[in-house]
Amino acid sequence: MTLTFVKSVIAKVPKASRAATVCALVGHSRIVELCLGQVTCARCGAILGDTLAGAYDLSQRLIVGHDCKACRRDYRNMTWRSRFRTAPASA
Ligand SMILES: [Zn+2]
Ligand SMILES: [Zn+2]
Repeated sequence: MTLTFVKSVIAKVPKASRAATVCALVGHSRIVELCLGQVTCARCGAILGDTLAGAYDLSQRLIVGHDCKACRRDYRNMTWRSRFRTAPASA
């Protein structure tokens, strides 16, 4: 799976479905949004888990807007699979 391939696939789907298509191809981004304990994919918006239930490990995740040292380091270590078409990556 290459970025070029993913781009060629999403070019053929409607704009609204592109984020979900990328996640279907390469998996959800490790970049997530956290709101009231609920973890959602920063790319497609799917609900990935619930930290309040204690069942979600955020240690390998980067939280959007959480500009701490660990998150910045994690972001540098991520591949396009996590960065592509997510909010922080497109900024
Ligand atoms: Zn996703
Ligand atoms: Zn952080």
